[in-house]
Amino acid sequence: MKQNDLLQARSDDAELSVYELTEFVFCPRAGLCTHEQKEVLPEPETPPNASFLPIHDENELRFTLKATIGQLCNIVLGGGAATIVFAVMAWLSGWISLWCLTLCCFLLTTYAVCDRLYWIALILQNLKIWKMAASQTIDIHSPKIQYVHWCELIRSEFELTEPQGAFHHIPWRLGGKPYRLLEKGALRIPVFRPTQPWKDLYPQHFVRIAAYCRLIEAKEGFQSPCGVIVMPDSFQAIIVPCSAKSREDFKQAVLRSRMAIRDSEERNVFPPEPENKSLCRDCPHGRPQVFRNGKPFIRGDITLAPRVFAGRDGKRYHCLCGDRFHWDPPHDLAESLRPLESEMPRRR
Ligand code: SF4
Repeated sequence: MKQNDLLQARSDDAELSVYELTEFVFCPRAGLCTHEQKEVLPEPETPPNASFLPIHDENELRFTLKATIGQLCNIVLGGGAATIVFAVMAWLSGWISLWCLTLCCFLLTTYAVCDRLYWIALILQNLKIWKMAASQTIDIHSPKIQYVHWCELIRSEFELTEPQGAFHHIPWRLGGKPYRLLEKGALRIPVFRPTQPWKDLYPQHFVRIAAYCRLIEAKEGFQSPCGVIVMPDSFQAIIVPCSAKSREDFKQAVLRSRMAIRDSEERNVFPPEPENKSLCRDCPHGRPQVFRNGKPFIRGDITLAPRVFAGRDGKRYHCLCGDRFHWDPPHDLAESLRPLESEMPRRR
């Protein structure tokens, strides 16, 4: 109850998403960039593109297999029929252009058929892994971090569901939607899938899990003793306990994020450069992008003057963090571009 009181937001506090919160944990400047640009930047909590193969959901995988077989049949029928029609017309007329059209049609159909066959083979391979997965006894209440096989985790009597919407807690002004939920009795385990290639467990992952668990407990009244991180391109999964330390880190992260946003909005004070500059080396907010007019940092309804530098390839670059905080983040790519000059922006 005491913890709930501390998390209670003021009526003028900003709405936060779990994703923004974890960006604040990673780097307070990244949190502000994400918070202020949330209308512009997509929140990477969902699969990035339509060609994504849903290997983590057996039912969806079967559905995708059916759809892909359907596409293969359409391609074979449509492409085959068009090739035959063009071939007959070419044979009757003797026109070279029609023979060329027939060849193009044949090659395109062959390419599309091979592509669909490749995806079908991939889906069948993943379904085989699902089929061979055995049920495991997994202690969901263990205080230890556990590395498990995703399919075996699902087989241990959990039901995999997709949350209908975000869990939004009005008193905390905080919301977030995990990728999936594992359900068993009164248990609800949030599942989070990173959208970037996985490196290691960092503090932001513990806070993210704790945030989902706390939202589920506070909003839905279920028990949520841990969360699961499932690798984006494999079946490896990590069960991360929602420990007392993670809960405390989550609480502190919410309080610090709100303070950073207030400082920025009310006093135009923003967080200092990170002490650990290696954070910037592959940070997406510090990644230089080719400057195009009309694509600078938009803070609220104010467009900030971009901090542009000329690369050795002659192109002009900027990055969101540089525009926002008026500095040159030591991103790996920026170092390799060897900036020649900086256009000093006018701050507003
Ligand atoms: S570039 Fe560096 S300072 Fe900027 S958001 Fe990323 S980590 Fe933080």
